[in-house]
Amino acid sequence: MKWVRPGHPEYDETRKLFNAMIDRHPAVIAQCGDPAGVAEALAYARTHGLDVAVRAGGHSVAGMSTNEGGLVVDVRPMKSITVDRDRQTVTVGAGVTWGEFDRATQEYGLAMTGGRASTTGVAGFTLGGGSGWLERAYGFACDNMLAVNLVTAAGERVTASAQENPELFWALHGGGGNFGVATDFTFRLHKLGPQVQAGLMLWPGAGAADLARSYREIMLTAPDAVGTALIYLTAPPEPFVPVELVGQLAVGLAFVHAGDPADGAEHAAPFRALGPAVDLVGEMNYADFQCMVDAPPDLYNYWSADYHDELTDDAVDVIVDSAKNLPGPHSQQLLVRWGGAVAGPAAAETPLTNRGAGWVSHPVGLEETREGGQQAKAWVKRFRGDIAPHATGGVWLNFVGDEGQDRVRAAFGEENYSRLAQVKREFDPENVFRGNQNIHPAVTV
Ligand SMILES: Cc1cc2nc3c(=O)[nH]c(=O)nc-3n(C[C@H](O)[C@H](O)[C@H](O)COP(=O)(O)OP(=O)(O)OC[C@H]3O[C@@H](n4cnc5c(N)ncnc54)[C@H](O)[C@@H]3O)c2cc1C
Repeated sequence: MKWVRPGHPEYDETRKLFNAMIDRHPAVIAQCGDPAGVAEALAYARTHGLDVAVRAGGHSVAGMSTNEGGLVVDVRPMKSITVDRDRQTVTVGAGVTWGEFDRATQEYGLAMTGGRASTTGVAGFTLGGGSGWLERAYGFACDNMLAVNLVTAAGERVTASAQENPELFWALHGGGGNFGVATDFTFRLHKLGPQVQAGLMLWPGAGAADLARSYREIMLTAPDAVGTALIYLTAPPEPFVPVELVGQLAVGLAFVHAGDPADGAEHAAPFRALGPAVDLVGEMNYADFQCMVDAPPDLYNYWSADYHDELTDDAVDVIVDSAKNLPGPHSQQLLVRWGGAVAGPAAAETPLTNRGAGWVSHPVGLEETREGGQQAKAWVKRFRGDIAPHATGGVWLNFVGDEGQDRVRAAFGEENYSRLAQVKREFDPENVFRGNQNIHPAVTV
């Protein structure tokens, strides 16, 4: 167990989160290598009356994995990864990132839905549900969870699975870090890779609206094995980008097929027929694809998301108008097709209510300065206002910042929220784990 306090040579590096907008100074960061360390850290916080935050990959855009003047339980030292090839399962420590997870499981030709950015933590991502490229085939990350070990606010170790503490297990499918500190996860894996059909395509921004309509038509009949997003971005100065596109609005496609690469080529063909200026889709290593769209660190982030049952032409126009005003060279407007296993039978087994939506619009504001970050925030908020008449009003918390208690309730609906509040009451009655997308403990049984 390592305690990192202000003045420690690693303090600034250790307290840093992915989002540069968050600049908080905890009194102590407890780097925990095992469940006993977590229990010790929680006891220390209790004794000294410190607020508690829990940190894994540090990718909470809202900064919900740190605090000002409190204690951070940092689970990053828990890095074990054990693959059981015969059972097709993996058990990972809570400090593992998706890049580490994908590389280790791909050694055995196994995979499951993971982060779209390889630096995201398995822990926060999965506890929030976990939406990734393979979700239409395999469901959210949480749907593949077989067991979670936690340390509760009282310092007790509990296992949650379908057999043990099943109500807690249900709550962990999207209820976030409300119920304890997860120390390891066991997941079911699927045979995939190492080679898959995947990659990126890029078109000039002039066809922005037509491309969104074509994307819609293609994805409405694409098989569940096809995972994609349409990404409005400023074409970066990369060697593979034609020089006349650099710095201009462009439309990207991220594509991955969960299956035989030859079949995947067939499903990439309709996109190819739209004549991309850049075509990097082909047979490639799945773990390499998984870090292909990693966002750079040290930027000022503000994000949100909305959901759409149907993607009307009017909604497309709002998305394209917003994309034409991307703040700075790094911001992106994403359009993601859901459906398939996102809305499959597993959906009803989780507290998340919003899984039936067909489409996600996801403005990702990324800027290089704090002032720029405020402009990115204003851009995201403007888009949310404009898209509201075309959206379901649903929320999914992994894609949003700190947008208040109403949004937390909307992510679960009143019935599931009440059920989650009962679980919270049982495992964290004093709301020790409150620096998160918070579920308040139920007052009565
Ligand atoms: C670049 C980027 C890309 C992303 N892409 C996606 C995506 O494709 N799909 C998606 O679903 N989300 C995505 N997200 C959102 C991300 O999944 C969530 O922010 C997630 O919570 C991050 O997990 P983490 O472990 O990295 O974060 P942290 O900031 O460490 O933690 C986030 C939250 O989880 C809690 N938590 C973390 N570890 C534990 C633990 N061991 N026990 C209990 N609670 C814990 C924290 O307290 C905090 O509330 C992305 C975020 C970024 C910045």
